[in-house]
Amino acid sequence: MTAGTLFLVGTPIGNLEDMTLRAIRVLGEVDAIAAEDTRRTRALCAHFGIHKRIISYHEYNKDSSGERIMGMLAAGKSVAVVSDAGMPGLSDPGRELVSQCLDRGLRVTPVPGPTAAITALVSSGLCDKGFVFEGFLPRARARRLEVLRRLAGDPRPAVIYESPRRVRRTLEEVAETLGPRVVAIARELTKIHEEIIRAPALDAAAALGPSPLGEFVIVVSGAAGDAVPEEGANSGGGLGDTACGRDVARVRGVARADLAGSVKRLEDSGVSRMEAIKAVAKESGMTKRALYAELERLKKDLKKDLG
Ligand code: SAM
Repeated sequence: MTAGTLFLVGTPIGNLEDMTLRAIRVLGEVDAIAAEDTRRTRALCAHFGIHKRIISYHEYNKDSSGERIMGMLAAGKSVAVVSDAGMPGLSDPGRELVSQCLDRGLRVTPVPGPTAAITALVSSGLCDKGFVFEGFLPRARARRLEVLRRLAGDPRPAVIYESPRRVRRTLEEVAETLGPRVVAIARELTKIHEEIIRAPALDAAAALGPSPLGEFVIVVSGAAGDAVPEEGANSGGGLGDTACGRDVARVRGVARADLAGSVKRLEDSGVSRMEAIKAVAKESGMTKRALYAELERLKKDLKKDLG
């Protein structure tokens, strides 16, 4: 155990079996545990036979409590920060403390554990390369819609934390701003009523029923293709431009080569081929007939390329 260290300790998001061996050891060895909710953390510690001094560190006392914790660290004591569930600092208290410790040259060490965002993302099957973490959306509708609209052209899936009271409304707003996007709803991850629903946003909202219960993460699939027209690419809707030997023509944000991929991704998520073509046509600004013809052309090109 290194003296004067702030440990960021991940705790289970539901299933206590997800507590790591290292988390148990570190919580047992530090001089104090700084917890978002002391009662909850006392119960978690009791479960693992950890009896430790627990101090409170939350949104409303983070300045005074943060100073106290940094005083302890400067005096050579070690402190573990935990939140109610998951990783501290991610839509949970901890970020400011980490930042202040780093600014003051105090040692910070993560003890990684579960986090709802990554657990939902990998369970969605919607993430290939990057992703966008939005966390909780703003309360004000105008600002919420602004955040969602910003996602419109982003090919990366977005991760949104949501409460049971607001999950349906948010799904409706996803459909309102982004059209028939497929979403994955990860509900009650690692718990008895765990469920992953993957469907276009409005269907997913309907599948939740009128009064959804539990904890939710929404993963919104990315825009089909790369929405930022590259220099020299045709951003006006035409097809067929090439650069560096690669097809970079875009139809209102959808790379030509990704049209087929976009249709396939939707089909893989359980949407019928007709619906998938309709959705991709809408997103790319093409008619269904034009998209269908383009898909046929791409198929032929591919056959030719393969000899
Ligand atoms: N720091 C936490 C983490 O690393 O995931 C997130 C804390 S944030 C205050 C709580 C939100 O995370 C919930 O409203 C929900 O959106 C999501 N969440 C937490 N546990 C979850 C679970 N078991 N299943 C689904 N979502 C969960």
